[in-house]
Amino acid sequence: MPEEIVMVTGGSRGIGASVCRKLAANGRKVLVNFAQNSGAAEELVDEIRAAGGAAVAIQGDVGNEAEILNLFAEADRLGTLTGLVNNAGVLDVAQRVDEMSLERLNRIFSVNVFGSFLCAREAVRRMSTRNGGKGGTIVNLGSAASKLGSPNQYVDYAASKGAIDTMTVGLALEVAQEGIRVNAVRPGIIDTEIHASGGAPGRVAELQSKLPMKRAGSAEEVADAVLWLMSDQASYTTGAILDVSGGRAILP
Ligand code: NAP
Repeated sequence: MPEEIVMVTGGSRGIGASVCRKLAANGRKVLVNFAQNSGAAEELVDEIRAAGGAAVAIQGDVGNEAEILNLFAEADRLGTLTGLVNNAGVLDVAQRVDEMSLERLNRIFSVNVFGSFLCAREAVRRMSTRNGGKGGTIVNLGSAASKLGSPNQYVDYAASKGAIDTMTVGLALEVAQEGIRVNAVRPGIIDTEIHASGGAPGRVAELQSKLPMKRAGSAEEVADAVLWLMSDQASYTTGAILDVSGGRAILP
């Protein structure tokens, strides 16, 4: 029997890395996808293996269809895919919509939206019982930004996460009879390097006092929610969008 594997896109740093650590600690074999920073990915894989877990790092930009196809071909070589965490996501520097270039919009939507759709497509092709698969779970990373809109910062990113909310519901219903559950986690402000990559390394410290719990969340706290949604304990949960935001943006 081929080994079962779970793929985490953008699994080398931040929330994705926490998800990989926890999945591996639960006995799952993890494909740790990354885009550029091979050092971080290899370090994480070494750490997981040293702790007795199983993990493999595979490079692939989820903003590029050919690289996604290659990523899934690598997954097929490693085992039978039974889980996908659509975690890779990017944001850009703060800008108003009337300043945004098409190049910027293409990058945000290619990675955050098209990447998640294409990875979900490849996962469903493999996991759906309709296609002879054994079922599985998909968890998408949304964002509280989908409800806040992020004016004067990154409306493009917020809108891309709005698409993730809708995709989660639609795809969940589409494959509900095919052994696949599809859910999303919608984090608030989480202490990772994504804020620095958007040109605001001090964002977490600046916002802290304005958050309902007066603190940002950790990658581990988000990963715990992802793990639950992927587990059999969530066997009747599909199409759910779970706010892990410490109370931020919880109203519809
Ligand atoms: P992060 O710390 O910036 O880590 C990003 C990860 O994604 C890295 O492993 C990176 O790999 C990978 N990545 C970036 N672009 C990629 C691409 N095109 N293809 C494949 N992998 C790519 O991010 P994070 O804060 O953990 O965020 C994870 C997810 O949670 C994202 O979807 C984000 O939108 C969402 N989220 C985060 C927050 C927050 O406050 N942190 C809040 C709400 C939602 P490399 O190192 O190789 O670039």
